[in-house]
Amino acid sequence: MSSIEEKDKEYIWHPFTQMQEWVAQPQMVIEAAEGIKLIDDQGNRYYDGVSSLWVNLHGHRHPVIDQAIIEQLGKVAHTTMLGLVNVPAAQLAEELMAVVPQGLKKLFYSDDGSTAVEIGIKMAFQYWQLKGKPKKQKFITLANAYHGDTVGTVSVGGIDLFHRIFSALLFETIQAPAPCCYHCKLSSGTELCGMACSKEVEKILEEGHEEIAAIIVEPLVQAAAGMLTQPPGYLKRLREITEKYNVLLLVDEVATGFGRTGKMFACDNEEVSPDFMMVAKGITGGYLPLAATFMTDEIYNAFLGDYAQQRTFYHGHSYTGNPLCCAAGLANLKIFREEKVLENLQGKIEAARNKLAGFTLKHVGDIRQRGLMIGIELVENPQEKIPFPWEMAVGAKVCKKAREHGLIIRPIGSVVVFMPPLASTITEIEHMLDIIYLSIREITEDEPLQYDARDVAAVMI
Ligand SMILES: *Cc1c(COP(=O)(O)O)cnc(C)c1O
Repeated sequence: MSSIEEKDKEYIWHPFTQMQEWVAQPQMVIEAAEGIKLIDDQGNRYYDGVSSLWVNLHGHRHPVIDQAIIEQLGKVAHTTMLGLVNVPAAQLAEELMAVVPQGLKKLFYSDDGSTAVEIGIKMAFQYWQLKGKPKKQKFITLANAYHGDTVGTVSVGGIDLFHRIFSALLFETIQAPAPCCYHCKLSSGTELCGMACSKEVEKILEEGHEEIAAIIVEPLVQAAAGMLTQPPGYLKRLREITEKYNVLLLVDEVATGFGRTGKMFACDNEEVSPDFMMVAKGITGGYLPLAATFMTDEIYNAFLGDYAQQRTFYHGHSYTGNPLCCAAGLANLKIFREEKVLENLQGKIEAARNKLAGFTLKHVGDIRQRGLMIGIELVENPQEKIPFPWEMAVGAKVCKKAREHGLIIRPIGSVVVFMPPLASTITEIEHMLDIIYLSIREITEDEPLQYDARDVAAVMI
């Protein structure tokens, strides 16, 4: 009999992983979890410091979500939404409408962030065809954007490492420079800065709006790019100029949605109501795959007509609106209400901020935080902003070291990402940040830095 780890290495191809390095190294097997801790097959406990890749909100095995799924299992696990209604999907839709930005009135279910974005792109495209403006076909995207890994979502992405090799398969977009305080030439973090950054987009809209269908953005934080934060006012300004030039605004809240930025949605920080909003990761509290693409009545109504007019949106997935997932989604919203999750977040966000203010280490460069989305950039020389050579895998080394101290995190290049479950207590957040501090110090100050494939195998993107 082979061990679990052997079976994994024999048969499974892991996401974003160089398998040659994976199979050559010992790997951790997670068997169970409790609250914000993961438990391996040796019984060791680790903090889930990136929320199982940004999905988990209220901890693992939360009784309310567990119970909701069990109850739904006693009724039915799955029925199709092609031609049938299901109970949790309808109930969840109503409850979601009460918390999303006010202009959003309808939703289309799918299964993950990538499908939710694909649907937004296709609907935005078809919308203009149906409105008699067939020339409006182009999408504006932002540099460093990440919207998923399917061919359509890679087309609107801007991370060269992931996307370059597929360029022949992708549709063309107009790429605008990314707004980012860190790299912005003006003083960072002011309304003025937000205005300046959006000028580039405005120029593109002014010149090309007759052929532009939409702009797609990650609001407030480009997470997969390394937690690049946007200046205040930027998103609001995008809403103003897209309205002015009759271009749709698609907001990808897959990472930022459900409390991550301190408000329910990133849009709420700037009182923005987009034409489309995509959510996934946190929608079930991190339990089951579910996603939703929200849109305005204006979009929805444009698709109405007799069957024969062929204005239908011809798109759907087998598990769309799955009842178990929607039951988990309902339980997620119930926890937000009953445990006052958003109200309790502010103290946690402040505690993290205070702790990070003490990260005065030799190789810590920029620290970026929006709510409980945190990126700590490691640099060879902070004064000159000289990065570590990427083959040093310094981020991966720090994350590997953190495991020795009982914390599971994952880097993006040389950015250490910290995105704990919202349920983490202030004490737990401080403890996790102590581990990160210690791990950074040990790797960048105490030990000579060298390239070692073993560091990369488990944790490197
Ligand atoms: C994770 C993510 C996606 C893709 O979601 P999947 O569920 O992994 O397909 C899309 N957009 C953003 C902003 C994300 O963070």
